[in-house]
Amino acid sequence: MRRESGLLQRTRRSLLALCVTGLVTIAVVWIATPILKRSFMDEAASQAASALRLAVAALNGHLKRYEALPALIADHDDIQDLLADPGNPELRQTADLYLKAINALLKSSEIYVMKPDGETIAASNFDTPTSFVGENFSYRPYFQQAIAGQTARFYALGTTSAKRGYYFSAPVRIAGAIRGAIVFKVDVDLIEASWRDSDYKIFVSDPEGIIFMSGNPDWLYASLVPLTPDRLARTAASRRYADKLPHTLLVTRSRVEGHDILTMPGPAGATRDYLLLSEAVEDAGWTVNVLTDTASAVNQWRTALAAIVLSICFAALVFFVLIQRKARRDERMLMDIQAKAELERRVAERTADLAYVNRKLRDTQADLIQAAKLAGLGQMSAALSHEFNQPLAAVRNYAESADLLISRDRLPEARDNLARIGKLVDRMASLSQHLRNFARKPNERLDPVSLDAVLEDTLEIVRPRLATARATITVDLGEPAPVVLAGPIRLQQVLVNIVTNAADAVEEKDDRRITLTARRAQDNAVIEIRDRGDGVSPAIAARIFDPFFTTKGVGKGLGLGLSISYNIVKDFGGDLTVANHAEGGAVFSIVIPLAVPQKEAAQ
Ligand code: ADP
Repeated sequence: MRRESGLLQRTRRSLLALCVTGLVTIAVVWIATPILKRSFMDEAASQAASALRLAVAALNGHLKRYEALPALIADHDDIQDLLADPGNPELRQTADLYLKAINALLKSSEIYVMKPDGETIAASNFDTPTSFVGENFSYRPYFQQAIAGQTARFYALGTTSAKRGYYFSAPVRIAGAIRGAIVFKVDVDLIEASWRDSDYKIFVSDPEGIIFMSGNPDWLYASLVPLTPDRLARTAASRRYADKLPHTLLVTRSRVEGHDILTMPGPAGATRDYLLLSEAVEDAGWTVNVLTDTASAVNQWRTALAAIVLSICFAALVFFVLIQRKARRDERMLMDIQAKAELERRVAERTADLAYVNRKLRDTQADLIQAAKLAGLGQMSAALSHEFNQPLAAVRNYAESADLLISRDRLPEARDNLARIGKLVDRMASLSQHLRNFARKPNERLDPVSLDAVLEDTLEIVRPRLATARATITVDLGEPAPVVLAGPIRLQQVLVNIVTNAADAVEEKDDRRITLTARRAQDNAVIEIRDRGDGVSPAIAARIFDPFFTTKGVGKGLGLGLSISYNIVKDFGGDLTVANHAEGGAVFSIVIPLAVPQKEAAQ
């Protein structure tokens, strides 16, 4: 039951932990997503900004090298001379060769000189199939500006060469008057080529939004913004892109987290988002753009988010495992406490049971003792009334017949009756004498008594009985005879009882020897009286020391001898036991403390 509720509790706790973890995760995802998104987008944007700065610097650096050159070469004698006399073929040739040499030296694309009407009269590519000589570029803004006295810059697709280039122009002044224009065309291919290996898509767009330079050739002359008729008209007037017709790129522009985003169709119908960073370069009149694929930034913030979510889950798991472990420990402790309490309760229960049984046992014992006492009293009363009634009845009979005999004058017979009455009274007196022994004083003083002396008196008393039984007694008390702590008369009484019983036991037997020995055992004297009678059967041995137990016929034994003897020996602090000898006959052992313990005697 307890285990079940523990399991239920654990399951509920698990579910709760799962819910809390889920909610925390959702909240964290909800809060962290925009922060991470913005942070990784900002990071991507800052990296793209560096790329953009580098691209702008490279472009500017490249173009700056050529910026001052047109004005410088305009003052060269060969150019001045030519424009002073434009029709002179010799001067044209000199100028052609000079421009070719300079072009090779400066690694520009082309250098050419135009008359005020726009006709090209000398060019570095005079000896190539796409020679500019004879071409008229008066429609180009850079020419118009130069003829107007300004230096100019322009980028366009060459109408003759079909090559894109950046044009620098300057007026050629002779004696203060503008006599023509000189133009430097610089290739942009090389710069563009360097962008192809870049991680970023770099491209240059013109003020109309049309892409002029790009690492991706498909994007050339494409527009990021819808092409309106105005824009198309302006582009057509300058013939910036010669015969190329600009088209609009399929892109959507949007702003996300403060950044410009370009969405383009990707492979397999998918779309790709790019971060767009732009910088307008005023001098060049264009805008340099850098595109960064947001996929890596998206991947990064998603990875970071996943890491955060995993961390939360892991932390929750660790927390949960710790909580579970603690809960299990607490549960186990509680179970231990409960088990201990249960054990204590059971012990208390058993103890109470035991106490109850003990009490019952004591009560029963007390009842039994009481019953035994009453039974003993009853037994004694019955025996006493039997023992007294018989002689009393006999006394009455003898008295009545004595009375009759006297009235008939039969005096000798009457005297005989009176003698019999006397004997019966003596017997009753002896019985009462024995009974008085029960009322002895147990704490009577004990004195050192030599067994020698006690036995001498004993034999004096038992001799007539031994003679009638025709029994012999051998006594061996050792030298010297032990001295015990006892009452001499009472000890004598015990010995008389036991020797008389031995005489009774051997009376009818062939072997009528009785042996009495004494020896010392530790601090006691052991007196053994052995006869050659029938011995004591186990059933009798258990009751032999009970008062009034006798196997002798009515009027022969009182059954008090051994019972009194037992009590006397116990009063001496000793013991009285009976056993059967291996060769037959009973052996009574009386153990009495020595007057002087052996150890002290030895000192
Ligand atoms: P009583 O001698 O009056 O019978 P006791 O108390 O002296 O009373 O003895 C009790 C009984 O013990 C005897 O009746 C007898 O059966 C048994 N008993 C005592 N001494 C011996 C013995 N030496 N051998 C066999 N039985 C004995």
